[in-house]
Amino acid sequence: MQESEIRKDYFLEKYVIIAPKRLKKPEKIYQKPETKVESCVFCAPDVDDPQKQIQVKDYYLEGGKWGVKVIGNLFPALSLNNIKAYGEQEIVIETRKHGIEIHELSVDEIVKVFDVYTDRYNTLMEKDGICYTIVFKNEGGKAGASIPHSHSQIISLPIIPPKIAEESAAMDKYIDEHGSCPYCDIIKSEKGGPRVIAEDEHIFVLAPYASESPYGAWFLPKRHIRNINDLHENEKKSLANFLKKILTKLEEIDAPYNYFIQNSLDLESHHFILKLAPRPNIWAGLELGTGIIINPVSPEEATKFYRG
Ligand SMILES: [Zn+2]
Ligand SMILES: [Zn+2]
Repeated sequence: MQESEIRKDYFLEKYVIIAPKRLKKPEKIYQKPETKVESCVFCAPDVDDPQKQIQVKDYYLEGGKWGVKVIGNLFPALSLNNIKAYGEQEIVIETRKHGIEIHELSVDEIVKVFDVYTDRYNTLMEKDGICYTIVFKNEGGKAGASIPHSHSQIISLPIIPPKIAEESAAMDKYIDEHGSCPYCDIIKSEKGGPRVIAEDEHIFVLAPYASESPYGAWFLPKRHIRNINDLHENEKKSLANFLKKILTKLEEIDAPYNYFIQNSLDLESHHFILKLAPRPNIWAGLELGTGIIINPVSPEEATKFYRG
């Protein structure tokens, strides 16, 4: 078993304690929340009723039925009508089919979901006063007899979130000092090493050296591109294929997860990345009080798990 180790992020002032536990089965670190769904609000015909759901846009219509659908949030924390909490929230229903998770869709269907993310990202970024838009997914996993309907969320903000501003500034500092992109350099330095989960000619999948999440993974295009718009068709397919494989593997240990897409800020030319963060246990005093996180699964172990 690996010894515990304090690790610093590649280029951020962030630390994590990698403290591998002697686990017989990896699923012991997860306590999946119970999900109970009485009646699914994302299933037709409810979701198509403008009295019950805010209609935004239907995608991939076939015989009058949508393949992917975007709706508004009925009780949004942010709204374009509220100057005190200005912003926009949307929900992307990834499939008509109830009880199917995103990794159970075909690669082509996942590519369609990425295309909807791209279209919504562009539409929302054009709205007045919007500075940042994040696309993310919270997945609780399958629990009991009731299965939630697979969906992602998009939130647009009137501010650049401090965490993003901080990472952006750290990237600029790195570029000044090294004359190169930190993520392009991470791909070069990790290549062939014990944290490479998978790669092909387009996409590099890595368990980051100082991962805050057990089984955390980064998906990086090998080309230095700044935005989801810049992904070409083969890169999208490759990304969809690896995301499908890794989320399928994650289902073996029933891990709830988040993933989110980081596009470069408008005036910058930073590397596009999709980050997958299986949800750790509820953070305790150390994490809340210091921001230093204990990760009980080393990235090297996580890599072995995904490769296996
Ligand atoms: Zn449903
Ligand atoms: Zn780069």
